[in-house]
Amino acid sequence: MISISSAPVLESAQDCGDIFAHIRTGIPISREAALGLIRCTDDDLPALLAAARRARDQFKPGMITYSRKVFLPLTNLCRDYCGYCTFRRDPAQAGAHTMTPDEVLGIARAGEKLGCTEALFSLGDKPELLFPEMRDTLRYLGYKSTLHYLEAMCELILRETALLPHPNPGLLSAEWIERLCAFSPSMGLMLETTNARLLAPGAAHDNAPDKVPAKRLRTIEEAGKQRVPFTTGLLIGIGETPEDRVETLLAIRGLHQRYGHIQEVIVQNFRVKPTIPMANAPEPAGGEMLRAVAVARLLMPNVNIQAPPNLNAPYYEDLIDAGINDWGGISPLTPDYINPEKPWPHLEQLRVRTEAKGLQLRQRLPVYPEFLSSLEARPALLKHRLESARDAAGFALQKESRVA
Ligand code: SF4
Repeated sequence: MISISSAPVLESAQDCGDIFAHIRTGIPISREAALGLIRCTDDDLPALLAAARRARDQFKPGMITYSRKVFLPLTNLCRDYCGYCTFRRDPAQAGAHTMTPDEVLGIARAGEKLGCTEALFSLGDKPELLFPEMRDTLRYLGYKSTLHYLEAMCELILRETALLPHPNPGLLSAEWIERLCAFSPSMGLMLETTNARLLAPGAAHDNAPDKVPAKRLRTIEEAGKQRVPFTTGLLIGIGETPEDRVETLLAIRGLHQRYGHIQEVIVQNFRVKPTIPMANAPEPAGGEMLRAVAVARLLMPNVNIQAPPNLNAPYYEDLIDAGINDWGGISPLTPDYINPEKPWPHLEQLRVRTEAKGLQLRQRLPVYPEFLSSLEARPALLKHRLESARDAAGFALQKESRVA
């Protein structure tokens, strides 16, 4: 199981017993309660996890969902230099690549045959602003910017395949949110953290202009104004404190309370890699991850909470005990380009471990069932694709039994 040792316990930790006594299942906990629980002692951890499980079981009883996807790294050029990133490249670096439309379509069609329903576009943020080579590539492909190219590839996927695009392109203006959601039911941007001190020299977001928390909050808010089902979340272990995690979750909760558009919150843990600037940074302890997931669940009892199994192997099923109800995107075809050294679990393994916890594994679309009704005003082609991909309950239609 996930080790709970070396958890961040305050010497004068608030009396969690008092907090537990005031938790009402399904009612969001207060900021003060969350700040107490995020540093609960190892002795109090089982009660925290039990409260989170009760909240999850009331929200979505009996199941854990996942999205079967292909991962499309449209370009790994990026103008930011996050200290934990192995994905990004400069144009002259080995492995620098911008996918062609044929590559995009080839992978999407292969994924379609394996029962995938999501085309996840993950890419660097506005590389053409920094690199003339990217401007040349875009000119050659016939597009003014990376976002224009992304828009065209989302449209291509929607027209030519049964997959539903889910773009993750970094900061977006109101205009670009509107343009991209004509071809994609949902989209995403990790808030990561509200701690702006991580922009300081030597910190994780030093030289990452697109990681200014206020700018990211603005994109998420714009998506809310346009009622776009939106995926966001936090990164833990990048230099923030446990209290920062609570503040980040509260910022997400605040936007969701205003606009009701946060379809899922990802709690993602930093994993160290030898080639990154943060190669010597400690990874968050397993107990920190469990606390963050459980506090996220209790702050937002009626929001989908997700944690990636590949970053929490080998004991990822323990996250079920902390209140998640979703494993995120899992691909039977493409690697996790963000964490290539951490392969996704085989889907059959995921099913076995989920069922061992007494829950059913269920395939969803990139957009969650409860958000489908907000897509009524979308263009006809997108609505048609959604109707063809969903079952009566809004999950992915199981056309045949496939083995990953
Ligand atoms: S994490 Fe994203 S924004 Fe940061 S360097 Fe990597 S690709 Fe760029």
